[in-house]
Amino acid sequence: MKNTMESYFRNIDERELLYQANKIAVMIQEGNYLSSPEKQKELLAILEEKSSDEDFRILIIDDNGVVISDTNASSVDKTFIIPEVILSLNGKNNSTYHKEEKTLYASSYIEEASSYKKGVVLLISSFENSEMLIAGVSQKWFLLTIFISIIIGIFVFFTSEIVISPLKKILKSINEITDGQLHQRVKINGSNEISQLGEAFNAMTEKLEQIDTSRQEFVSNVSHELKTPLSSIKVLSDSILLQEDIPSEVYIEFLQDINSEIDRMTEIVNNLLALVKLDFREAGLNITETDLNKMLDDILKRLTPLSAQKNITISKEYLKNVVVEADEMKFSLAISNLVENAIKYTNTEGSVKVTLDCDHQNAFITVSDTGIGINEEEQTKIFNRFYRVDKTRDRETGGTGLGLSITHSTVILHKGSIKVSSKEGEGSTFIVRIPIKFIEKQE
Ligand code: ADP
Repeated sequence: MKNTMESYFRNIDERELLYQANKIAVMIQEGNYLSSPEKQKELLAILEEKSSDEDFRILIIDDNGVVISDTNASSVDKTFIIPEVILSLNGKNNSTYHKEEKTLYASSYIEEASSYKKGVVLLISSFENSEMLIAGVSQKWFLLTIFISIIIGIFVFFTSEIVISPLKKILKSINEITDGQLHQRVKINGSNEISQLGEAFNAMTEKLEQIDTSRQEFVSNVSHELKTPLSSIKVLSDSILLQEDIPSEVYIEFLQDINSEIDRMTEIVNNLLALVKLDFREAGLNITETDLNKMLDDILKRLTPLSAQKNITISKEYLKNVVVEADEMKFSLAISNLVENAIKYTNTEGSVKVTLDCDHQNAFITVSDTGIGINEEEQTKIFNRFYRVDKTRDRETGGTGLGLSITHSTVILHKGSIKVSSKEGEGSTFIVRIPIKFIEKQE
């Protein structure tokens, strides 16, 4: 900044000095002051007055480089050939700065009518005062900068603490969570970005805790579900082993029981595998154009023997012919679970109805029954893994509590939704929505 100021003021001073030199040269030309010694004396008086007013030294030098007059008187009659003078005698007025002497030189030629350069006006002015002034200002600036820096430093020190302390809290919680303490939450007041970060962090932690809880529940449910048939098998096999001379009918009966427990375990494991596969998300889907009418017909055909056992009437109503994009195997299993449940949870002589309809965006598959129904509180839980309304009853019906959660995951994976409405003792209705590919023309 000091250098810039210096060169700025030096430029101004140089220009001003040159202007003054030109003015004096013109004055000498017009007043013809170099024509006689009297005139030169008169000129010296004028120049001395000007020099003391303006605070610069004025030298008039002739075309031989000899000083005719000098307001300092020290150089009169001496030869003063310096580059500035030579340049001016060659017709080029100029100004320069002499760093070592801290002085400014400006020189301007004096011309005759014939354009002959018969002399030079040389002005010499000290730049020392300006330099001292600039140095003083620079020093003040320097002190001011230090003062402002200290103030800013103190301000930053205190405000950074305000910004950093909530971040420290979040960092502490992250470390605790990493150590497994998922119940951690941070409390940050205010409504700025950092408190929003705190809220987002808490929401994320809550989600993590939920995932962790459901994972633990899932593992304990799986172990529990597998333990029950295992203990039955153990009891049954122990009885066979410990008893001597068992009649062959009892033997066969026990083995049949063991066999059905193994079947149950196999079903649980198969269902679990199906669920795990669904957890691999959309990438695992084998999407094809699926004719829903045909798919439903196949399901109903396959399940008719099951309904016949309980004398349940199955009816169907297809209002449209709909084609969707789906993984046919998985989607068929999902709907099949619903129809199977409808049969399973409907008493003998009841009825099950499957309808298919669509609007311009979605297809709707409805499975309704006249069965035992599900009370309102349970309706929100039945899609959870291993959830069964009546555990003992379901054991008889062979349920694992995984069917509906497979159906739910599959439907969600197909960008659809599933809803249930039910009244205890009257029956249930499950409605599955899935986006359509196109509607086929009705024949
Ligand atoms: P499960 O293998 O026990 O049938 P699901 O996941 O298919 O398991 O169903 C969960 C629970 O929801 C069942 O145990 C049953 O209590 C209830 N449920 C499902 N469908 C019906 C239905 N159509 N009518 C009455 N209850 C049902």
